[in-house]
Amino acid sequence: MIVVEQNKCVGCRTCVYSCPIGAVDLIKLTTENGEVSSIAMIDPTVCGICGVCIDRCPKRAVSLQDDKKINESNLVS
Ligand code: SF4
Ligand code: SF4
Repeated sequence: MIVVEQNKCVGCRTCVYSCPIGAVDLIKLTTENGEVSSIAMIDPTVCGICGVCIDRCPKRAVSLQDDKKINESNLVS
């Protein structure tokens, strides 16, 4: 499963734009002090585990969290 570390994500949307199958979107979070921030959220029911978002994230906020392998055949050209 591909996951986003909330404390690293800056909501830049690079992963949203780079995902070939539209599995990523931004959600808004409100912190304890009332600040609103956007972070990326990956839909695991859509994600093909291609790894593109891991490579593209400038903050290294996206990672593979279990023993599944990156499946390049899931890339949509
Ligand atoms: S590319 Fe990285 S920092 Fe930018 S929105 Fe996606 S997870 Fe967050
Ligand atoms: S691993 Fe691939 S399919 Fe899954 S969210 Fe990232 S770019 Fe999209």
